[in-house]
This record gives sequence, C-alpha cells and structure tokens, in this order.
Amino acid sequence: MKFLYEGKAKIVYEVEGDKCLIHFKDTATAFDATKRANIEGKGVLNNTISSLLFQLLEEKGIRTHFIKKVSDREMLVWRARKYDLEVVVRNITAGSLCKRLGLKEGEKLKKPLVELFYKRDDLHDPLICTEHALFLGLAERREIREMLRMALEVNKLLKGFFRDHGLLLVDFKLEFGKLPDRTIGVIDEISPDTCRLWDAKTGEKLDKDRFRFDLGDLLEGYRKVLERVQGG
Ligand code: UDP
Repeated sequence: MKFLYEGKAKIVYEVEGDKCLIHFKDTATAFDATKRANIEGKGVLNNTISSLLFQLLEEKGIRTHFIKKVSDREMLVWRARKYDLEVVVRNITAGSLCKRLGLKEGEKLKKPLVELFYKRDDLHDPLICTEHALFLGLAERREIREMLRMALEVNKLLKGFFRDHGLLLVDFKLEFGKLPDRTIGVIDEISPDTCRLWDAKTGEKLDKDRFRFDLGDLLEGYRKVLERVQGG
C-alpha cells in the first residue's frame, strides 16, 4: 500500500495500481481550515454514512468510485483522475448562496440550483461558470455537461431518500473523477461534512454547520443522520 496524499479529513493510499484506500480522519475544519478540531469518532461516522450513500447511488445506476467499505474508517474505491471542480446542488437557500446574493436562509428554491466552484485552496475555491472551467482547461464541455446532469440526478435520488427518512437535503457538494474504465463517476465523500441536512420536523441542523457556527455537538448530529438513514 503506497501513501498518496493526506487532505484535511482523509488520507488516501494506492492499492493494486487501479484502486485506493480512503482513511477517514477525525479532523473537522471550516472556513478554509482556519477553524479546526479533532472530534473522536467523526471519521467512523463519515465513512459509514458515505459508504451507505455511495452504495445507494450505485444501486440506482449512478457511477461512483465506491467498491466497498473495508473497515470502520476505510473504504476501497477505484482510483480516479479527479477534476479540480466542486459541483454544488441546492434545494433550499443557505451558506455562501445567502452571503453572496443577500438572501435569507431557509427559502425553498423553485427548482434545484447547480453551481461550479474551482478547487483551488489559495483562491478560496471561487464560484465559476462553465466558460471559466473550459478556459482553465478543467474539463471538456461534454464532461461538464455530464457532471451537471449527474449532479441533478444524484440530487433527485438523495433528496427523496433523505425525505423518506425525515431529513431535508438543503444542499451538497460533489466531486467527480475519471474512473479506470474512463467513465465519469462521483468520488470523494458524501457525508454531513459535505451535505446540509435539517430535521424535516424540527428544522434542527444535523450537519457540519454545527461545527462551523457552534450550534451543538457535531457527533450528536452526525449520529442522528446515521440512525435515520439506517432506518431508525
Ligand atoms: N461544501 C463542501 N466543501 C466545500 C464547500 C462547500 O463540502 O469546500 C458543501 C457545504 O457543506 C454545503 C454545500 O457544499 O453543504 C454548499 O456550501 P456553500 O457554497 O454554501 O459554502 P459554505 O457555506 O460551506 O462556505
């Protein structure tokens, strides 16, 4: 097993050439990692939730890098060539959308809104449009089209799935990569670190906003998400 890289929340190793092992750490970061903490148990929760959601997407015919969950903190995935893009889908106003456009949080959008961000830490991941992505050579036009189509499909599936479990999917971020068979798949993670999830009845925030804005115990929120999606 060869060490590939260590990010803010994960460590990635190469396995058997065309696969990777992702190790989920307990680190929580926010606001360009200016806020940090070690929250024991977060990695296990994110690996469990992420594995479950990737499996759901695979069952519904969405390509992802997911192969299997191999331990509490580790998942085996296909090695992918990632695009330096983040695709955000929104159903309800929150976060940077409110800040950028002066909107109130919690307004339901008439239809899902998809945004592209350039994955560049030193530029603070700026919002970009398709033409910018093409100009920067981040992907080809048909690849961007495919990512946007897949992101909306993922939204449809996840929104319905969470709704069935009493949760509102406010917004989420996806990353994409080219898999060994050259198809585009969803990579990275799908967890309460990367999705905003609110309790459908009480409106309680159960995602990383708890950590960002000191709204309460992060693990308690993530545990509630896991219990819900496991059918509790
Ligand atoms: N998000 C993420 N990683 C990022 C930026 C955003 O996972 O680097 C997720 C975030 O958790 C939320 C959604 O993408 O679910 C939209 O985030 P937003 O643009 O509102 O930015 P934020 O409020 O996180 O600054």
